[in-house]
Amino acid sequence: MDNKPITVTSPLLPPLAEFVPYLQKIWDNKWLTNNGEMHQDLERRLAEYLGVEYISLFSNGTLALITALQALNITGEVITTPYSFVATTHSIFWNKCTPVFVDVEPKYYNIDPTKIEAAITEKTTAIMPVHVYGNPADTDAIQKIADKYGLKVIYDAAHAFGVKKNGESILNAGDLSVLSFHATKIYSTIEGGAVICHSQEMKHHIDNLKNFGFRGETVVEEPGINAKLNEVQAAYGLLSLKYIDDAIAKRKQIVEHYRAALKNISGISFLSEQSGVEYNYAYFPIFVDEAKYSMSRDTLYEKLKSNNILGRRYFYPLISTFEPYRELPSAQNLPVAQKAAEQVICLPLYPDLEKEDVERIINIVKR
Ligand SMILES: *Cc1c(COP(=O)(O)O)cnc(C)c1O
Repeated sequence: MDNKPITVTSPLLPPLAEFVPYLQKIWDNKWLTNNGEMHQDLERRLAEYLGVEYISLFSNGTLALITALQALNITGEVITTPYSFVATTHSIFWNKCTPVFVDVEPKYYNIDPTKIEAAITEKTTAIMPVHVYGNPADTDAIQKIADKYGLKVIYDAAHAFGVKKNGESILNAGDLSVLSFHATKIYSTIEGGAVICHSQEMKHHIDNLKNFGFRGETVVEEPGINAKLNEVQAAYGLLSLKYIDDAIAKRKQIVEHYRAALKNISGISFLSEQSGVEYNYAYFPIFVDEAKYSMSRDTLYEKLKSNNILGRRYFYPLISTFEPYRELPSAQNLPVAQKAAEQVICLPLYPDLEKEDVERIINIVKR
């Protein structure tokens, strides 16, 4: 048994020596936070890199989600997916809205647009889908429903950094999209996040909200929060951006390796790729069908673990089964999401994952 544990991910750490000049500049400027030079530069470069018009940086993705809902005055009920990281639903709860879970579709495990209309009531004001694992949700179908009922759409795009569909950033869909730059995500500012919007006016509004609601020096227009990204983290983001294309290319190679090696194992499946989509290769989830594989998901998970391979069951348990949400009427009948949650293991995937380690993981899954 190998002694060095292989984790599900490993942060994209740019070379330390290259970070020092950024720190020197911050020290020279004596400007540590509040929309400093690094922050402004990162917003410009990210907008360009991602192919979006307006982006506001945040101290983390969860505060970005919470603020996105605030910015659109979302009230009442918000339709969302149970198959995500718990922050998606928490952000609705923190806005004193009721999350309404709609089951996912069986191909990519994104919210099922054919089930959204049945969940709409007179209290519904918004839909919060997730591009889970970076696979674009059906943005056209979702927008059609939103337009028909006058609903806002806020995408939790925490997994979708850099993802494009037919050459266009997926982050331009809906009213707002939210990114996370947490250390476990493909691109990070250690902790961090962003809201993408479509007008200068909305960006101002969001920027004010993340800075206590200040507009100018002495005027507070609305009850804002403090969700600002600091200069050191913005600098880290600027430097990391130089390495992101290389990181995605290396991830792609590993994913192709996994796909080729695991494609003909009875009882093991993975998600197909949508045509026309430029992926970021953020995750490699496999799904274990116990009957066909003759081993349960959890047994395989434990077996990997005993070989020091720390896959993760993203997303298990379902959000709708957690204590704060399990009594909701919409938490009850979500068979597709439930099945995905019971079958999934995300295999280790990060740019410098060694080929021999990938082989070792593959061999354990193959038996
Ligand atoms: C990581 C993640 C978040 C939360 O982002 P933080 O930056 O950690 O607050 C929200 N939604 C999803 C789907 C995530 O994966």
